[in-house]
Amino acid sequence: MTGERIGVFGAGVSGIGAAEVLVAQGAKVTLFDERDDEKTRAKLQGLGLDVELALGKAAAERLRTMDKIVLSPGISIFHPEVAAAQAAGVEVLSEVELAYRLTQANVIAITGTNGKTTTTTLVGEIMKSLPVKVAVGGNIGQALSKEGLAVGAGDWLVAEISSFQLESVSTFRPHIAAILNITPDHIDRHKTLAGYIAAKEAIFRRQGADDFLVLNYDDETVRGMAGKTAAQVFFFSRKTQLKTGFCLDQGWLVANLPAGQVKIAPAAEMKIIGGHNVENALAAIACTYLAGVPVEAIRKALAAFTGVEHRIELVTTIAGVSYYNDSKATNPESTVKALEAFDGGIVLLAGGHDKMTDLTEMMALVRERADELILFGEAEARFAAEAEKAGVKSIRRCGMDFGAAVSLAHELAKAPQVVLLSPACSSYDLFDNYEQRGRVFKDAVRALAAQGKR
Ligand code: ADP
Repeated sequence: MTGERIGVFGAGVSGIGAAEVLVAQGAKVTLFDERDDEKTRAKLQGLGLDVELALGKAAAERLRTMDKIVLSPGISIFHPEVAAAQAAGVEVLSEVELAYRLTQANVIAITGTNGKTTTTTLVGEIMKSLPVKVAVGGNIGQALSKEGLAVGAGDWLVAEISSFQLESVSTFRPHIAAILNITPDHIDRHKTLAGYIAAKEAIFRRQGADDFLVLNYDDETVRGMAGKTAAQVFFFSRKTQLKTGFCLDQGWLVANLPAGQVKIAPAAEMKIIGGHNVENALAAIACTYLAGVPVEAIRKALAAFTGVEHRIELVTTIAGVSYYNDSKATNPESTVKALEAFDGGIVLLAGGHDKMTDLTEMMALVRERADELILFGEAEARFAAEAEKAGVKSIRRCGMDFGAAVSLAHELAKAPQVVLLSPACSSYDLFDNYEQRGRVFKDAVRALAAQGKR
């Protein structure tokens, strides 16, 4: 890419990382972003990068004058200026494709609608038990292209990959790929469910007989992909005893292989809770076992893994009541997963910016498993009405006062109940993002814990 004029579209973490990497490769880089405010400009200029800045909507027209364009995950190939550039013969690649072209390492790539970050992080933790270098990237931490350059031949690059990033790959061929699940999400971006599925399939399109593809047997769409690949397929299943594959057997996570059964770890040793996390663990075990990690090392890393922040994260226990931060649950499906992870006795904190989602399934489960429903934020009135309709026992409202909601949960909860923040809403009514909401919750809980000790 030396001497080539490369446009990087999207000046977030991933775009800035890609620009840095490309400059180091000797490319002439133009960094595009449709935002053109003081803050963005100051931030980008402050980086001291040897790139030309092309900010604002009008500047995007210049994308078509580049030799190549690298897209940040947030930018669609259907963006009119990207489409125009492509029509003019400009090669368009995702940041994942760029990372793949630059790295010498073996690649493990994980995609799916849900569970990507958890599974990728766990795979990274397990892989670190090997005596080689391991880098983890994608949606996590730094740009994947930067991570990919930090590891060399014989090392491993573990990548979380969104379907958006798979829209523009051309040579990407991970040695091990996993598809966790596919639910009709993100249709707005991919136009159709078929388009969304086709994007996900790009993860294995160039794999060959030496490569491995790990698929979720319990997901019909994902299971069907077994017939579309040249790679060696290994299924995992939480629900079915597979003759060949990774599944549960009498409380153990096992690999049933042609040579016989390999017992990997007792499920009871896992610290991450809920059935969905059993699926994530099985997928991670499959990837790492196929990568050659010894069974004992897999078991140890799995038992040590406490999960990723804001995903049913145990904050602390006060007077026998455990407090869980599940702020990443920004839709009812995620809250359902969290409710299912507990047998009952839940004091649930929910609400936030209302995305007008269907609450039927969630409220039925709230009635079954929650003793108290404490609501806050803009969604409060509609959530309360839906909860009442579903027959939820006790509904309390705290308006726009998130702190009051946490204090009320603390007042009401008695062991062995648990307090669970799993909002089923986005956070934009009261917070910058779900991370901030989670941190505010954890700070409040820790303050209550400290008060109790005084
Ligand atoms: P992603 O990176 O794909 O968004 P995360 O690991 O960050 O996935 O998990 C986000 C949320 O998705 C979790 O809080 C949980 O509610 C849900 N989730 C996680 N794993 C799964 C899974 N295997 N199947 C279904 N839902 C899941």
